[in-house]
Amino acid sequence: MPNTVDPRVVDAAAGPGPAMPVGGSSGGRVLATGVRTAFDGVEVLHGIDLDVSPGEVVALLGPSGCGKTTLLRSIAGLERIAGGEITLDDRVVATAGHHERPERRRVGMVFQDWALFPHMSVGDNVAYGLGRAADRERRVADALEMVGLAGLHERMPATLSGGQQQRVALARALAPQPSVLLLDEPFSNLDTGLRVQVRSEVHRLLTGLGITAVFVTHDQEEAFVLGDRVAVMHDGHIEQFDAPAAIYEHPVSAWVAAFVGDANFVPGTATGTTADTLIGAVPLSDALTGAVDVLVRPEHLVVTADDHGIGVVGNVEYFGHDHMVQVDLDDGRRLASRAPGNPRVQRGQRVRLSCDGSASPAFAAE
Ligand code: ATP
Repeated sequence: MPNTVDPRVVDAAAGPGPAMPVGGSSGGRVLATGVRTAFDGVEVLHGIDLDVSPGEVVALLGPSGCGKTTLLRSIAGLERIAGGEITLDDRVVATAGHHERPERRRVGMVFQDWALFPHMSVGDNVAYGLGRAADRERRVADALEMVGLAGLHERMPATLSGGQQQRVALARALAPQPSVLLLDEPFSNLDTGLRVQVRSEVHRLLTGLGITAVFVTHDQEEAFVLGDRVAVMHDGHIEQFDAPAAIYEHPVSAWVAAFVGDANFVPGTATGTTADTLIGAVPLSDALTGAVDVLVRPEHLVVTADDHGIGVVGNVEYFGHDHMVQVDLDDGRRLASRAPGNPRVQRGQRVRLSCDGSASPAFAAE
């Protein structure tokens, strides 16, 4: 039996389900336990555990090829799973031996390329997933209103801007009143300025609807802005599943630390909650003993002009709201410091470095 199911069937999710009150909480729970998915016998998800609460927005974040889309498609029913279990609203929809078809799962899906039908009007695109539901017209109008496109149902997709087309795709996914919305890189086809604007609009919409949403992104900022929680994926595993601030401030591994932002790793020796490092004493967020690499985020690294300092400014980048200073240490290492306002040092100047006193995570040195 083929592993992969035709994605169009998700949009064909007819079945007038219970009405989803706009603005009310109507999200379902998504629970994946030990999920394994393989292609041609090669396993790409190695036992995924993910518990998404009703109404929560969760980002699947990770580098290319780590399995984000495969996990999303496994939840949607577009891929069969080889092990573990997926439940939606406490209903088992997938195990190795059981596969509920996508159109029965009450999930809405928004694809990276939006997958609009170019020969169909906006209204017909949105109605596509509604089958012969008696209140089709009202649902189309409601869905278009929800995404801020009321009155545009006669237009053809090609006459809309990228952002509007993306919202039509969203309206189409929402019209059948799914309990869970799945979005695969929904903003990647938009140029940078529009991307931020549409992202904010979608954020407001998802928060207002109270719908459960799981979305795929490889963009850390997007994951942090939109996600109530973020699942950081690496090589078919979830490395950490937590609120954005917890992931940024308390990453479980050096890999996660480096993936979710700029990271300086400063070698040192830990004794309890302090590490003695080449930039001086650094307070640690957890007690450790022995050789460690301390994570000092650039915003916690202080650069001060000093003729006897341990490095030389290699580069200064001014962004207006803040600036970055790259410092080349005498041992060949390069550390970055970020601070508000104007830079106080210039390229070629010798400097000393210190930590601003914030407690930092540390990892046993490899
Ligand atoms: P990207 O950010 O590049 O989209 P991703 O994290 O979403 O990556 P997946 O698309 O889930 O990753 O792919 C995970 C792994 O599974 C990759 O090695 C990919 O080549 C493989 N894979 C995905 N789909 C198939 C398929 N239909 N047949 C065979 N291998 C596949």
